Amino acid sequence: MINTKPQNISILGATGSIGTSTLDVISRNRDRFNVFALTAHSQIEKLFSQCVEFNPHYAVVDNENDANRLHDMLRNKNVSTEVLYGEKSLSYVASHQDVDMVMAAIVGAAGLLPTLDAARAGKKILLANKETLVVAGDLFMRTVCQSGASVLPVDSEHNAIFQSLPENVRLTMASGKWQTENYQSSGIASLILTASGGPFLDTDIDTFANITPQMALKHPNWSMGRKISIDSATMMNKGLEVIEACHLFSIPADSIEVVIHPQSIIHSMVRYCDGSVLAQMGNPDMRTPIAYCLGLPERINAGVSNLDLFTTDALCFRKPQDERFPCLRLAFEALRLGYDATCILNAANEIAVDNFLNGKIRFTDIAVVIEKTMSLCQLSDDIFNIEQLLQKDKIARNIAQQIIIDM
Ligand code: NDP
Repeated sequence: MINTKPQNISILGATGSIGTSTLDVISRNRDRFNVFALTAHSQIEKLFSQCVEFNPHYAVVDNENDANRLHDMLRNKNVSTEVLYGEKSLSYVASHQDVDMVMAAIVGAAGLLPTLDAARAGKKILLANKETLVVAGDLFMRTVCQSGASVLPVDSEHNAIFQSLPENVRLTMASGKWQTENYQSSGIASLILTASGGPFLDTDIDTFANITPQMALKHPNWSMGRKISIDSATMMNKGLEVIEACHLFSIPADSIEVVIHPQSIIHSMVRYCDGSVLAQMGNPDMRTPIAYCLGLPERINAGVSNLDLFTTDALCFRKPQDERFPCLRLAFEALRLGYDATCILNAANEIAVDNFLNGKIRFTDIAVVIEKTMSLCQLSDDIFNIEQLLQKDKIARNIAQQIIIDM
């Protein structure tokens, strides 16, 4: 073991799918990690159980009522965890001087500020919250570069690409110092993001308007949170990942290929100029990329079953069709538009997905709401800080909500 002292970790979004998997990996490697802080939004009972098991210094919840309730539950069990609440407390545990690494796994734009604060404080950030890069990619990567923070991609596709890059490239990228110009000299031709295609890859497009949230939440390969499951069904998830990859790997959109690979065994690939294509493979289980980020530079036990090559289906690859996945096209469109277009895209998507999950709009309306929001919301070429971006996010959400009311 290279790091003899256990690493202190704050897990933002501990009660979610990624947060729970992170704690599962930590529970298999107790000598390496101390859980410093756990945060949750609505699942107070689950956070309570996690605190009893991992005894963090801090637990953070949304409001004072929940904080008092959790505090009483913990004291009754003789657990000394201090309970905090509110946005400022999320930032506090993300940037605390005793914290070595931060798992950024809050869903949506709500994860942005604490993740940015972790970057400002120079932390090692295990980045799951893709919205940080989609909404504020330039700002975030600049902050990482200036503060000496490092960013390791948890998203399985970006993690696979990261693992398939040469070591010197990986180290420079993690510190935010990688430049687009360096690609040619390192022999990298393009990045290939794989996508499962979601549950409706072979469904008749004419029936898409009848898709219910229950149908869309059933992902064929991955077990994930609700929002990202819908994003996978529309393939907006892949669109967000293309944007994420552009920032993380400092690569232009036209050097990224998207390939549908329904088996989700190859998690992504790097194409090199000599004809080689390097891939990372494994069972679809987020504990693999999480363990990779937690353990780097070592490999640690993730609890993931071995990939059995003899029982694995034949690996297939297909091109995504525009008419089946309009959200993917919109994401590329936002990248081409530049400025704050990806922030607008993300805000409109969050509103549309939420309304779809609540039965207010149809599955096919999601792309319609996003496209209309993008055409009505003016781009700004003078956005320099996070407050301006958050203001733009709010404007785009209001426009999207109004479009839905008028539908
Ligand atoms: P989940 O919905 O399962 O969990 C989200 C977490 O964020 C929960 O702990 C939730 O708390 C918390 N949360 C929700 N809203 C707020 C808020 N307003 N303020 C503070 N905390 C909040 O999401 P996932 O774990 O699936 O995803 C987390 C992030 O990781 C997303 O950005 C997603 O895109 C990304 N990701 C997820 C993958 C996956 O396989 N799940 C793969 C790659 C990336 P509570 O549960 O208590 O309400």
